[in-house]
Amino acid sequence: MTNAQLDTPVLILGGGVAGLAAAVDLARRGVAATIIEREPRLGGRASQFCCKATEACARCGACRLGELMAQAAHLPQITIYTAALAVAAQPRGDGWQVELAPQPNGEIGPGPGRPLSERATLNAQAVILAVGGEAFNPAGKTRFGHGRVEGVFSALELEAMLAQGALGPKAMAPAKVAFIQCVGSRDASLGRLWCSRVCCGYALRMGRVIRGLLPESEVTFFHMDVQDYGRAWEEELPELRKQMRFVRAMPGEVTAGDGGPEVTYALAGEQAIKEGFDLVVLSVGLGPPNGASALGELFGAAKDSDGFLTADGGPAGVFVAGAAAGPRSLNESIVHGGLAASQAASRVASLSEARHG
Ligand SMILES: Cc1cc2nc3c(=O)[nH]c(=O)nc-3n(C[C@H](O)[C@H](O)[C@H](O)COP(=O)(O)OP(=O)(O)OC[C@H]3O[C@@H](n4cnc5c(N)ncnc54)[C@H](O)[C@@H]3O)c2cc1C
Ligand code: SF4
Ligand code: SF4
Repeated sequence: MTNAQLDTPVLILGGGVAGLAAAVDLARRGVAATIIEREPRLGGRASQFCCKATEACARCGACRLGELMAQAAHLPQITIYTAALAVAAQPRGDGWQVELAPQPNGEIGPGPGRPLSERATLNAQAVILAVGGEAFNPAGKTRFGHGRVEGVFSALELEAMLAQGALGPKAMAPAKVAFIQCVGSRDASLGRLWCSRVCCGYALRMGRVIRGLLPESEVTFFHMDVQDYGRAWEEELPELRKQMRFVRAMPGEVTAGDGGPEVTYALAGEQAIKEGFDLVVLSVGLGPPNGASALGELFGAAKDSDGFLTADGGPAGVFVAGAAAGPRSLNESIVHGGLAASQAASRVASLSEARHG
């Protein structure tokens, strides 16, 4: 049996914001692209985020996904297959020959694209790896009690709770909420030394949403410092400091107390304090994509010193976009997707020029 043939100038692996932005950018330059998404639906991590607007837009970036999906759905140069995985790849001619296999289908979501129904072979002149990064699994930081201590949640779990309306005056109404920053980032004991760039921002936005839903609640932000990547927090911090309690300390542990989780921390030069909360949120960071090594091997892409994918020094025609290349916000990943698209478009144009003289 022969495979279906799906040739395209540019193959994009990953249908999160970076992959979608790359495809939209290419289409606007008149270059066709095929997105291959492993999951049954497009969107990547952003599809899990809810709107964080309180009185005004919180500039979380989440609604950029809807805009990109709508654009991708209407641009005829873009083809999208979901539930599909690249299982083999080899350089061929000027580009890459990639073998694709359908993945077991979950619930097919709304949005553009159709599931890959059979094995296929795809030839492309350029490949963009936009497979995203992995959120740190908080179970890997056992002393913070995730999965063991009732009332301890990861930030992704809190996202889901907010999206489902699980917090509010008529739902779960914690009186005291703690955010613990840098979980799985800037941590020598885990060998994860990088700053994940996005978690100060998302935690402050979620803290503000909780204060909006539950004005009587007290929100504490345990942090080393507040990172300002891509956003002028300086302007907003005075107001945020009125809404939340900022504690500059990295807690030692979270344990089960009588009334809920207890956080042990020490302020500089002082004795350790044990304080009880109703809800403790672990602000998990972003790490290299799962399977970075396998993908790197498939397409000859290298990894940087932290394990993120890099196109530097790799084979011609392979580019990396978005959080796969390092922690990035949604807006930064969209810009990065556009950059990879411009590089891929230049390659397609120069190959075409070479062919046609
Ligand atoms: C807890 C948390 C909260 C965050 N909150 C915010 C926020 O409020 N604002 C903000 O700006 N940023 C936030 N971020 C960062 C944001 O998630 C990233 O900037 C963004 O998701 C990066 O987009 P991406 O397209 O590079 O990757 P992703 O969104 O991860 O998309 C990658 C896509 O590739 C697919 N894929 C993976 N492997 C393969 C493969 N081998 N083949 C095909 N497809 C594959 C995945 O299924 C996924 O759809 C947060 C991150 C975390 C962890
Ligand atoms: S950027 Fe975020 S907060 Fe602002 S409207 Fe969009 S989803 Fe809501
Ligand atoms: S963005 Fe903030 S919480 Fe995240 S790793 Fe950097 S300093 Fe820590």
